[in-house]
Amino acid sequence: MMKEHIEEAEKVLLHTYNRYPVVFDHGDGVYLYDEEGKAYLDFVAGISVFALGYNNKEYNDALKAQVDKIIHTSNYYYNVPAIEAAQKLTKASQMDRVFFTNSGAEAIEGAIKAARKYAYLKDGCTDHEIIAMEHSFHGRTMGALSITGNPKYREAFEPGIGHIKFAKMNDLESVKALVTDKTCAIIFETVQGEGGIYPATDEFIKGVRALCDEKDILLILDEVQCGMGRTGYMFAWQKYGVKPDIMTVAKALGCGVPIGAFLLTEKVASNSLVAGDHGTTYGGNPLVTAAANKVLEIFEESHIISNVREVGSYLYDELEKIMSSCPSIKAHRGVGLIQGLEFDKPVAPIINKALEKGLVLINAGTNIIRFVPPLIISKADIDKMTVILKECIGGV
Ligand SMILES: *Cc1c(COP(=O)(O)O)cnc(C)c1O
Repeated sequence: MMKEHIEEAEKVLLHTYNRYPVVFDHGDGVYLYDEEGKAYLDFVAGISVFALGYNNKEYNDALKAQVDKIIHTSNYYYNVPAIEAAQKLTKASQMDRVFFTNSGAEAIEGAIKAARKYAYLKDGCTDHEIIAMEHSFHGRTMGALSITGNPKYREAFEPGIGHIKFAKMNDLESVKALVTDKTCAIIFETVQGEGGIYPATDEFIKGVRALCDEKDILLILDEVQCGMGRTGYMFAWQKYGVKPDIMTVAKALGCGVPIGAFLLTEKVASNSLVAGDHGTTYGGNPLVTAAANKVLEIFEESHIISNVREVGSYLYDELEKIMSSCPSIKAHRGVGLIQGLEFDKPVAPIINKALEKGLVLINAGTNIIRFVPPLIISKADIDKMTVILKECIGGV
């Protein structure tokens, strides 16, 4: 059955992914099940999405109830799930205003537009620059792609939106060297995900914040992957005692339904986008905001973030042990439940082997295995994972 489905898929789906040869059918907790009933321990969570684990009854029920009420209206009308989700998000982040989107990339697009508009209102010019980071990842739409620091992703699609410069993550001097009178925003992921799991250093994030304050440049923090509790803080920047002017979230916000958001401080919100400047048909509709609402409610009421801290440090210690016994592992980075092991060779064979053994892992770049499991994972699950991982490392 699975083989036939895979063959059918390859006839009709645009081949933009080299997919793993598995058709997942359903999930429960931290396990996925393929069409043939085989169970897989999931350390990917749909790439940092399914924070609550699969088949969470409270979440499923909230979605079903909303389906029976109303799925979509339009942003020309108010809807209660969106209001409540925005209240919860602003409370959790201490940001002031929210715009809901359909994806992470779309949240980035909105953040770029807000930053450009903010600068435009100051001097009436349209030649403002954004400083982004090398090895960053912000999404696949043209604006998000233009600030993505991997030239391989951009090359065939140039020209991008223009007026973008790339500095080195965690190198404050490289940022300072690129700042001009035209710089309107500096953007980075608080923990770089796709680029290889590089958390911002304390010195860097504070230094960029001070630089932005000094020159009235907007600090945009992309929390699409590292936000929503994954680092042991609701938003990764909260650990550093700094605050962005604009923040983007998505991935775990809806735990699987397509929703993202960009959030702004009042200063930016009241000096940037106004009616007519930005919009979306689906963004923040009652179905997806009912999901986000329930996710945020569960975050508030259960101890998800304290679990992340506890099991995250356990995962850290276990991965340290694996690194010390395996010469082909060059580095271990990350925090909470966003960690990476960097090998001196491509990790695809390890990931393929793990999949055969019922463990779902994913890479970040060619040589790095990224660990971004559901946030409800337990120490026992981590033990199961490391047993399989060690077998797979040994065998390649
Ligand atoms: C995944 C990701 C995006 C893009 O999100 P999509 O929903 O895939 O558009 C943007 N920024 C970061 C940091 C991401 O990890």
